[in-house]
Amino acid sequence: YFVSAEQFNEHSVVITGDDARHIGKVMRGKPGDKLIVSDGNSKEALVEIESIEAQQVTANIVEPLEMDHEARIRVTVAQSLPKGDKMETVIQRCTEIGAVSFVPFLSERTIVQYDAKKEGKRLERWRKIAKEAAEQSHRNRIPSVEQPLSWKGLLSSFEGYSLVCYCYEKENGKQLRDALKPFVEQLAPGASAEVLIVVGPEGGFSERETIEADQAGAVSVGLGKRILRAETAGMAALTCVLYESGEMG
Ligand code: SAM
Repeated sequence: YFVSAEQFNEHSVVITGDDARHIGKVMRGKPGDKLIVSDGNSKEALVEIESIEAQQVTANIVEPLEMDHEARIRVTVAQSLPKGDKMETVIQRCTEIGAVSFVPFLSERTIVQYDAKKEGKRLERWRKIAKEAAEQSHRNRIPSVEQPLSWKGLLSSFEGYSLVCYCYEKENGKQLRDALKPFVEQLAPGASAEVLIVVGPEGGFSERETIEADQAGAVSVGLGKRILRAETAGMAALTCVLYESGEMG
């Protein structure tokens, strides 16, 4: 479970809200049960439940844990908003695999409408999904889910990354592995780096968008000979990046 830094004290932690209800009602937790709690930053501990109330669980720290489950290659997945609840799938699965951040964006062929008024609720839900997936996969940190960007907004955000790849199914030159080779070779041992993976909509990127992405410094990469669904491509590319940089398996 994740708690805020203020709820993570020297000898105890306080869990409130949905998590407290989850421990009490769903997990049927009772005093004496053990849990792992993190402040989403640097502190993590094995704790033992002392008391359970409807809105609050208090637990004592049994043992601080120093397990780092985060990948040193920090991958952000930028996903052109897919239809239905597929963005939720992307966030859930890519959090398990190890993404540190999600940037939904709107491109020329994005099918879904983006209603700024309703977006607050959707964003809230995406962030909840990231938190739950982070808990379930024992992440130390909850990946961030950013406000959806326009295509132009996304292009202007490329600067802070060591490598930006956009997945392009018509790419018949450079495959993702080719792009990762020089990147991995220049990485100092133990060094961290920021990578951005950009995935297009169901209808793919327009030609104009591929030109603009090239101009903005992104590398066009293929993910093999098969066409993946928009919600699958990010998971596949993320797995490849972490695998090739020695962060998986
Ligand atoms: N409209 C395209 C078509 O029918 O050929 C397919 C687009 S695909 C369903 C959605 C997105 O997934 C693409 O924009 C791309 O970013 C990514 N993608 C899917 N398969 C890919 C592959 N083999 N190589 C690179 N990117 C791929």
